[in-house]
Order: sequence, then C-alpha cells, then structure tokens
Amino acid sequence: MSSFQRKEISLTQVNQLKILRRITITQAVCNKTAIGLAGEMRCNFPAFNGNRLNLEKHVLKSLAENENFNDFITYIRNPRRQTEAFIKAEVEKYIFIDHRDKTVNILKKNVDDVNSLMSQALSTATQNVQSQGGDIKMWLKEFSKIKKRLDSIIEQTSSLSLGKLKESRLKPDEILIDQLCKCCWVTCPFCAAVCTNTIEGHSPDDHSVPFHRLSGIKGWHNRGTVEFSVNFCTTNVASDGRFYPHHNSEKSVPYKLYRTAGPEYANWRIIPDESKLAYWKWFVCRFQNQLEGYYKYKFQGRGEIPSEWKKIPKDEAIKSLDEMC
Ligand SMILES: [Zn+2]
Ligand SMILES: [Zn+2]
Repeated sequence: MSSFQRKEISLTQVNQLKILRRITITQAVCNKTAIGLAGEMRCNFPAFNGNRLNLEKHVLKSLAENENFNDFITYIRNPRRQTEAFIKAEVEKYIFIDHRDKTVNILKKNVDDVNSLMSQALSTATQNVQSQGGDIKMWLKEFSKIKKRLDSIIEQTSSLSLGKLKESRLKPDEILIDQLCKCCWVTCPFCAAVCTNTIEGHSPDDHSVPFHRLSGIKGWHNRGTVEFSVNFCTTNVASDGRFYPHHNSEKSVPYKLYRTAGPEYANWRIIPDESKLAYWKWFVCRFQNQLEGYYKYKFQGRGEIPSEWKKIPKDEAIKSLDEMC
C-alpha cells in the first residue's frame, strides 16, 4: 500500500468520526424511546390496540366521561382534530403519569444501549486505524477530542430526564396519530357520523358507518321553524319525507332519493334501519340547553325530545357504545 493510499484511508475515517461527533446522542436516545413507547401502546393500550371503530368508541367514551360540550362540538365539526387531541392526552397520561416508572426505565436502558454503541464504534475505529496503518498522530489528536466528547455525552445522557422526550423530534403521540389517523374522515351530510373506512381516499362510492345519529346534532331543523330535527338519518331515508340539501336550497328532495341531492350525498350508503344508540339520546338530553344555545334552534314541537330518552343514565349511554364493535 502506498503512503498516499494510507493517508486517504485515515482521512476518510477521521471525517466519519467528525460526522459521528455531530450526531446529537440525546436525540438518538429520545427517538428510540419514542418509537418504543408508541409500539408498546399500540400493543397494550385498549384505545389503540384495536380497529378504527374501537378507537372511535374510546373517543366517544372519554367525551361522555368529561362532559365538556366544546369538545363534543369539536368532535362533531372536526372529528379528526378531537381524535388527535384524545390520542395526545392519553399518551401524555400513559407516559408521564400512569407508567412513569416504566418509561424512566426504558429511557435508562436506551441511554445505556446508545452509550455502549458509541464506545464500541470508537474502539472499532481505533482498531481499524491501527490495522490499516493510518496516520497515528492525526488519529490520536482526533481520538482525544472524541474521548472528551464521549465522556460529556455519557454525562449528558445519564442526566436525561423524561422532560426531554417532549422536545424530541419524534414524539410517541405523533407516531401514533400518524398510524391511527390515516383513514377516511368524511362525515355523513345528515348526522356527521364519521365514515369508518380505514383507507384514506378509498373508492369514492359508499362511505358508510354502522351507526348514524339524529340529524339535530349537526344542526338540522324543520324549515321555517326553530324546531330541531330529532330523527335519525337511517329512519329518514326510509320515510316519505323530503329535505332541503342546503340552507339556501329552493327545491326539496325526497329522503328516499337522497343520493341525487348533490356530491356530498351521492357517495354515502345509508341503509334504512331502526338502530339508535342510547349514547346520542343521552347526549341531546344532557346538552339540550347548550345545543339550543349553539344552533339557536329548540327541542320543541316536532323536535321535542322523546320523554323515554331522558331516563337513560350516562353509564347506560357509555355501555351502548359496545354495540359499535
Ligand atoms: Zn347519518
Ligand atoms: Zn369513507
């Protein structure tokens, strides 16, 4: 080997080590921890370890438990945003409260792993320089720099706390949002129920959902009155009634021909049935005043809430969600 070649080899190695020095080890540890925690929650956490409907069920359950009207409205108007907020909150609770000790241990283990990888890389590099006859003087200079850096990294990472995870580029909640929210989010034009297809942008025909709701929760009312509509859309589509597709529509359309009412209606498959989740009956009773204030319509006249709905207790409403999946 000529001396020229030897010098080339050692320069390449020195450059590699310079790059290695620039890697933020703290970040590597945090990324590894974030991926690990997301994976663990995907397997063990009940809201995240099932299918799409299972996640929806847990979102609705938490909405009922918290009884926050604004969150319900966010969910009705922008279900994806509320679902993402739910995932964020659950991850935060899991990592920083309920499983804090476990998370700290995972973080510690990843610190040890990364530190031992670094030491190993350093010793392999040293061996390579020696066996390939690199420029020992230059190497020693680099080595002492790296050694100092390694010591400071070990010091830094040993004091690494859970708080650093929040600054990490990869975050467990974002990994989970990425995995769980890549699906269809089109909502029913009558009741705002979210299509349950797991494929984002699936064949445009036939968005569908196993349970529809009463259309009043999306603000539907009887034209020319302030009366909310308390009918479920699955009942309406079997009726001889008619509806105005938009606020300013002049012509009404028979419910039975709802698909002809415009593009947002055309792609929904709404099968007539009498299934009515107790959950939504409870919801309109619990938030009657807030809904009236929000939409400026009334649950009166044809929009009167059936009296038997008012007898549904919250736990029964939450239990009815089990019918979803
Ligand atoms: Zn519907
Ligand atoms: Zn869909």
